[in-house]
Order: sequence, then C-alpha cells, then structure tokens
Amino acid sequence: MTGGPDAGVLGVDIGGTKVALRAEAAGRPAYERTFTWPARADADADLAALDAEVSALRAAWGPVGAVGLAMPATTDPAGAVLAWPGRPGWTGLDLAGALRRIFPDTPTGYADDGDLAALAEARHAGRDDVLYLGVGTGVGGGIVLGGRNMPARASAEVGHMVVDLSGERCDCGRAGCVQAIASGPATLRRASRLRGAGVDYPQLRAGLRAGRPWALRAVRTSCAALAAAVVSLGELVAAELAIVGGGFATGLPGFVPLVGHLARQADRPGRPAPRVAAAALGGLSSLHGALQLARDLADQRVPTGPDRPTREARQ
Ligand SMILES: [Zn+2]
Repeated sequence: MTGGPDAGVLGVDIGGTKVALRAEAAGRPAYERTFTWPARADADADLAALDAEVSALRAAWGPVGAVGLAMPATTDPAGAVLAWPGRPGWTGLDLAGALRRIFPDTPTGYADDGDLAALAEARHAGRDDVLYLGVGTGVGGGIVLGGRNMPARASAEVGHMVVDLSGERCDCGRAGCVQAIASGPATLRRASRLRGAGVDYPQLRAGLRAGRPWALRAVRTSCAALAAAVVSLGELVAAELAIVGGGFATGLPGFVPLVGHLARQADRPGRPAPRVAAAALGGLSSLHGALQLARDLADQRVPTGPDRPTREARQ
C-alpha cells in the first residue's frame, strides 16, 4: 500500500458516532468521505467498517503513503484502549495492532483529537503558542507551545480542568471539570432546567436569538466556565491566543465572543487573559490535524517528539 513519491496522505477523524476520512496528494483531487459507525457498538464491527472504507478509498483513489488518526479514546503506551465513553466497546482493544492490520506497511500514527485540533488551528493561525478548546459532546482541546503540543508525554486534558469546586459532576467522577459545566449536553440540561421543559440544540439557538432568559443564562454559565479555563491556562503558559471551536460552540450566536468577554474581565496587571478567537477550521480541525500528522510521518518527522503519545504503528 505504501506508494512512491506520489503517494498521498490520509487523515482519519475517529468520532463517537461518525468517522471522517480525507486523502490528499499532489496532482489528485482530494478524497473525502464520512461514514457512521455500525449500530452495534462492537469494536470488531467498527474496525471491519473502517477497513471496508479504507479498501474503498484505495480502490477509488489510489495508494496512501502515510496515515494519521485523531482519536478521542484514552490509550496506554502500548496502544491499548483504556477508556472511551463514546464507544465503550473499544475498551481493551489493541488499537496499535488493529491499525497495523488495516494499514500494513504504511507509516501510521495516532494522537489525541484535541491535541491534533490544537495543532491544526495553531498552524492555520500562523502562531506558535495557542490554547484550543473544542466544545461538543465533551470539551476537548490542546496546548501548542513553540509550535508543538504540550505536555510532551501525554495529551492535554483541558476538559478536565477543575473550574468550580462545587460544580456539576463530570463523567470522570470528579466535580467541577469544565467539561461537566460547558459541554453541549451539560448546557442543554441546564437550559432545560431553567426553562422547565426539554431544550434541544435548535431550540437553544433560537432561544439565544430571541434573547430568552433561560437560554442566555444557560449559555453564560458555560462560557464563564470556559473563560475560567482560558484564564487559568493563560496564567500557566502565558499564551496570548485562545481559540474556541467545536460544533456546539460554533453554531451558537455570540458564544465565542462571550467567552472572550468574560475572560477579559479576569485580566490582571502584567498578565492579560489570552485573546479569544473563533476556530477557523470549524468541525474539521481534528481531521486537518490528522492530515498534518500523516504529512509529518511521510516526511519522517513527528512534530511532537518521540516520547509523547503521537503513537506510531509503523512496521
Ligand atoms: Zn472530569
């Protein structure tokens, strides 16, 4: 499967319900495909579906010289899945081995989807030091310093930063993680409580547009939690730019500017809060990061260093 100098690179963004693939090569139109996991939440069925999609890509598009995958699962250094609330059936899976079978003889690496999204947004912004928070079914993200993900030996778990000691319970078991307060589902639950009736995403968006108090209050609490995370991260790493993205945040009017407004209120002399900007790559940031990882592997340079879990499944 490894191609010559014209071989393309493949990025795969693994999600809890969907998978996006994009292959690029000089002189060939890009190949794009999104598919939904099989209804049966079973790792073997999922991997068979991924394998079939990759075979279809090879047949329709051509060879792939390197592969990068954005993964939401927590993995151990050997490449086994320790936890993935989005697809519990993957727990215990030998991910590195599975990828070697699907992409034989091809440089293949994977990394945390939040880290890769941060890297893609930083490179797109032309900045070396960037904080990134992606708000969706959870809160993911990453930290890029000097053009590289940090920390060097693990993923940056920005969603589990504690921002409220008496805050809501996170699915990790702890109270007050930013994800427990500001994720899409947490925000919708709060909006439902405040409204006294169920609120789905379109209703929340409409409520914001109409200035409904329950919608404004529900979103403000989430934005305040995200602003606290931005300010705290800014104190630690002195980044000047925080990028906020993710499908949930991006689709709500005024959401990202409110995070920026609340962060600025926490400025202190000598250490202004990072400026907050909306993500430029939209829902594609993890996929672009996966492609970047594939390019770096094709160039034989892994941007994040050999020790961190930008794990390669080379043969
Ligand atoms: Zn947590």
